[in-house]
Formats: sequence, structure tokens, C-alpha cells
Amino acid sequence: MTTPLNFDTTWRYAPAPESIPVRLRKSYGLFIGGEWTEAKDGRTFRTINPASEKVLARVADASAADVDRAVKAARRAYDRVWSKLPAAERGKYLFRIARMIQERAREFAVVESMDGGKPIRESRDVDIPLVAAHFFYYAGWADKLDYAFPGRRAAPHGVAGQIIPWNFPLLMAAWKLAPALATGNTVVLKPAETTPLTALKLAELIQDADLPPGVVNIVTGGGETGAALVNHPGADKIAFTGSTEVGKRILRALAPTGRSYTLELGGKAANIVFEDAALDQAVEGIVNGIFFNQGHVCCAGSRLLVQESVAETVVAKLKDRMATLIVGDPLDKNTDIGAINSKEQWKRIQGYLKLGEAEGAEKYQPACALPEKGYWCPPTLFTGVSQSDRLVQEEIFGPVLAIQTFRTPAEAVEKANNPPYGLSGGVWTDKGSKIFKISSKVRAGVLWANTYNKFDPTAPFGGYQESGMGREGGLHGLLPYVRLLDPEHS
Ligand code: NAP
Ligand code: MG
Repeated sequence: MTTPLNFDTTWRYAPAPESIPVRLRKSYGLFIGGEWTEAKDGRTFRTINPASEKVLARVADASAADVDRAVKAARRAYDRVWSKLPAAERGKYLFRIARMIQERAREFAVVESMDGGKPIRESRDVDIPLVAAHFFYYAGWADKLDYAFPGRRAAPHGVAGQIIPWNFPLLMAAWKLAPALATGNTVVLKPAETTPLTALKLAELIQDADLPPGVVNIVTGGGETGAALVNHPGADKIAFTGSTEVGKRILRALAPTGRSYTLELGGKAANIVFEDAALDQAVEGIVNGIFFNQGHVCCAGSRLLVQESVAETVVAKLKDRMATLIVGDPLDKNTDIGAINSKEQWKRIQGYLKLGEAEGAEKYQPACALPEKGYWCPPTLFTGVSQSDRLVQEEIFGPVLAIQTFRTPAEAVEKANNPPYGLSGGVWTDKGSKIFKISSKVRAGVLWANTYNKFDPTAPFGGYQESGMGREGGLHGLLPYVRLLDPEHS
């Protein structure tokens, strides 16, 4: 067994803060019908930087009356402009938005890190490039829907209501907006309360791109704003990404109405590491899967299932690697683990850390100095957990890894499939045949082999069971936004 490194006596990088200037207004209104407007009752809320607890801006808090205005603006834009535009013209707008996102990528990355707490390395190298890639990809589909659905005519629903979470704020907006617009829908989008700023900056970009007014409307607010959008009969389709708990509430509200919906919900993914895997590579994948981005990832590899014969080695290597992870300023290019997104989420994670110990698991956290202000959590692993423990069954959404061992592939599969989710997973082995065997038995929407958390706009993403229904990304991601009609249907 190797001795854990003492990070303080090995090496430490000099600070390298991102220095791109950002333009943030003191306050933001709602973006409705191509214009900025206050909430009808004048209510606002603050969005803070979770790394410093400083207020970044005040943002309008939309009521049901504001949501109604936004849905009506989207309907007008659909009836008068968007549904009449040739598909190739819709595509041109999307290409323009994609290019403008690339031009402004650095500023978007900084704002994303300030508002949500994620390391700049993630927002700069992963989130924003994928945002542009999604717009490019779906721009290409706009005038090729006949090829996507041969023999059918793909008609838009009309107005799409879209509700997104705080962990990938702009990327989730892109996953929602790009396919909806490409297929000819207009949109009302509600970002999460703690991370509204990049969606609002996207609204500025959309204005600069001269998208016809009302095609995209952005309403900020909390859960009530989201519920008002879900319950608005004028929203023909609802696309929701968020927690399973809220997803179930939305399902109950929408199922009797006959309106269309897709739900992308939580996960409790397992990385399965076999004794024949390249162990150092697997450790990197595990670290990437659960610790980067603070574990604020729906498909985070929050469980590790490791074959008993290599368990001790893998855990020792993991502990070594965890000791080198840098927790701190999200705007520092060296940072691996940024700030926890909000005080509420921080409290939730702390609750699970206590619970883990109370359930009899053994906790390991490397020694690391945390900033005084802001919300932070060191990378944490638990060994000695059992299958029924809440640490193994429930989504924590923080940098917390639960480790179990297995002896046979069948046992690994059984444990992987046990929690009520089915969003993603990973398998690490030298044998291709094992990859195929395991991936055909693990019930997850995405299974990565000898890698983790890799995304591409051409690949569908989505879950089984309590992880949701419907797919986003790729050709599959067009389907939730269209009604497939007989070609003769007018
Ligand atoms: P959440 O509490 O469910 O919130 C998601 C969004 O729904 C937010 O905009 C939220 O507004 C809004 N909302 C809250 N209550 C609502 C209601 N009753 N009706 C309609 N909308 C409502 O989830 P979260 O804590 O922000 O996000 C983390 C969750 O998202 C995790 O469970 C994660 O796994 C999941 N997620 C899934 C995917 C995927 O693709 N499967 C991707 C990313 C995240 P407020 O922010 O104002 O509360
Ligand atoms: Mg914020």
C-alpha cells in the first residue's frame, strides 16, 4: 500500500486567476417579446457568487402573470413569424447564435464560474464549447428534418416551456433551446434561481443576433415561476431538467393534461473497476467523474464498485490523487474543485457527510485549507458502506464518493442496478468483451468505457427509471420537440 502524499510538502501552483473582464448589469429584468421588462409586481431576488457570498446582480422574480405574458409573446412569435419562416432561415439564426457564443466564450465562462462556483477550467474548456457545439449541431438539422424522420412530416408543438437546473446553467439552456428552435418551436425558458446570469447574457446575445422578438423568452424566478410555466395551458410542451422529486411533481401535473413533456432527472451512477483495468487511468476517471465540478453533475460517478482483489490498491491511489486536488477560487485556472453552488446545497451535503458516519461508514478527506468565505467541501470518500445505506441509494450532488467492492461481474451488475436511478455509469477493464457484457446489463442511459463524463452533441443522453424519460442530444433529441404527421397532413 502506498503512503498518501503530503501535498503541502510536495508542490503547489502559484495562483493563476482568470483576468477576462465581464460586463454585468446591476439588475436584470425579464426577457419577454424581445424586450427587457420588470416583473409586474416589481419583485426581485439576488444572485450571489457562492465563492465569495457577494451579490452579483438583482434579478426580476417572475410571477404567474409574467409567465403568462411570456407564453403569449412566444405564441405570437410562433403564429406570426417563426412557424412561417423557411427552415433554412431558422438554421441561419442558430448558426449565428453558435458563432456569437464562440466569440464571447471567455466572458460566458467567467460569468458561469462567478454565478455558479464551478472551476473556470470546466466552464471554459467543457461547458461553453459544448454550448456552441449544440447550437451548431442543431442548426444543421433545421432544414433536414425530412431526413431525420423519413416518410413523416415533423411539425413543431408550438410553444415550449423549459425549466433548467443550476449545475450546467448555460449548457442546459443550449440543450433545451437549440433543438426546440431548430424544429420550429418558440420558447419560454426558466433558469435556476441561483444561476440566472448566463441565460440572461444569452438573452442579450439573442437580441444582438436579431432573432425575431418573442421566439426566445427568459423568465427568472424560483420554483413558483417554474410551476407557473408547467401549469400554463399555453405551453404545448414542457421540458424539465432537475431533481427527481420536482420531476415527479411535474409528471403528476402534466400526465392528465395530454400535453407533451420530457424529464431529465437525477442519478446515482457507478464506476465499475475490474482487476484487469488500467488502474491509474481508472483513478483519473473516478476523480473526474465525482470530484471535478464539485460532484454537481447528474451523471456523476458517485459510486465506485471495485473488484475485491484490487480494492486496496485503488483506494490508496485515489487517496493519493485526492490529496493533490486543489479546492478554492473557481476563477483560478489551477482549481479542480470550486465552490458548492449555494448554502442550501452545502447544508444538504454536510447532512450526508454526517449521515455517512452515523451509518457506520468510514470517511476520508485529505487535509486542505478552505477559504473563509463561501461554500466549500473537500473531496470525500466513504468506505465500509452497505447497499442499503442512504449514501449508496440517494443522490448527494456533491464531491462525495461511496465505495463498495465486488467479486464477480454478476455481483457488480446487481449492485450497479440497485438504486432506483439509471442515468449513467462507467466500466473499466482491459477486455472488450467484458465491456459489451457489462454495458448490456447495466440499466443506464449512458455507459462510458475506460473514460467518464464525455459529451458530444451528436450522442443522445437521458435516463431510465427515476432518472427520467425522453432523450436530449443527437437525432433522438429532436423527437421530443416534434409531432410526427402523415406527409399529406397540412
Ligand atoms: P430542482 O430543485 O428540481 O430544480 C430544477 C429547476 O426546477 C429549477 O429551475 C427550479 O427552480 C425549478 N423548480 C423547482 N420547483 C419547481 C416546481 N414545483 N415546478 C417547476 N419547476 C420547479 O433541481 P436542482 O436542485 O436545481 O438541480 C439538481 C438536480 O438536477 C439533480 O437532481 C440533478 O441530478 C438534476 N440534473 C439532471 C440532469 C439530467 O440531464 N438528467 C442534468 C442536470 C441536472 P429554482 O432553482 O428556482 O428552485
Ligand atoms: Mg449565483
